[in-house]
Amino acid sequence: MRCLRSIVAFAVVTLLAVHAAPAPVPGQSTFTADRYVESVAGNLPIVLTAPHGGALKPDSIANRKEGVLGADLKTLELARALAAELFARTGRHPALVASHLHRSKLDPNREIKEAAQGDPIAESAWRDFHAAIHAALDATVARHGFAFLIDLHGHSHPIARLELGYALDSAQLNRSDATFDASGLIALSTLRDLHARSGPALAPSALIRGPRSLGALYQAAGLRAIPSPQEPQPGANPFFAGGYIVRTYAAAPDTPKVDGLQIETYRIGVRDTSENRARFARLTADVLTPFLREHYAFDLAAKK
Ligand SMILES: [Zn+2]
Repeated sequence: MRCLRSIVAFAVVTLLAVHAAPAPVPGQSTFTADRYVESVAGNLPIVLTAPHGGALKPDSIANRKEGVLGADLKTLELARALAAELFARTGRHPALVASHLHRSKLDPNREIKEAAQGDPIAESAWRDFHAAIHAALDATVARHGFAFLIDLHGHSHPIARLELGYALDSAQLNRSDATFDASGLIALSTLRDLHARSGPALAPSALIRGPRSLGALYQAAGLRAIPSPQEPQPGANPFFAGGYIVRTYAAAPDTPKVDGLQIETYRIGVRDTSENRARFARLTADVLTPFLREHYAFDLAAKK
């Protein structure tokens, strides 16, 4: 009887092993069959996305005709450098979702119409990319109770500074602190959940550009950043406010437990060489450590 029971148990375990989808191993990459979308499973509360660092230009996908067509050079490598730094510090991995298609074929940081411009293969890759972000965020929230999404980009604006996109545009950031705080705009930003949890103790302007904001922490680490106490308002200078990804997954009202931002990096000194990408990764980990500790009670300094 005992023998029969163990045979049955063995059969059940074997069946489960064969039929259940294997749990993704943190740090391991999986690709869609066409290899256009890569996902790295994570076990930190951080999800990185790299929508504009891809290089593939398959003939089977028509070239996009409108919108921005140039890639954000080395931003996939920048995301990998940040993932490697976080692993070195914590023994754990952030999730990473990357598009390997060149932006002339697909722009996954746009809604599907502008993203794929009617090409069915590009549309399919767009769906795969966003399904991968959904899956990464769902798994992260299930594990940690929250997810912090960092969408990595590269700009070529004249001023070499990090542009931190909270889904707040120049006109909104050009308001005074008092006007901004009274506007309720923070509830439409990528830090909406954090703001809702913090309550009145932390003014919206303090969260976005106060002395403990991400911009302030980057400035203290030696990287120029806007918005920050030093540079609170873009004024008339070009500024990226944050695109489709952070607006869809962090700023929208139906994204509880997900905060984050778009980080637009300049090239020389940040993403042009592997040494500079590693330096940016170290400084970003230095910046995230106090921010996640203070606002999410998560300690990146504690090794697993
Ligand atoms: Zn970009």
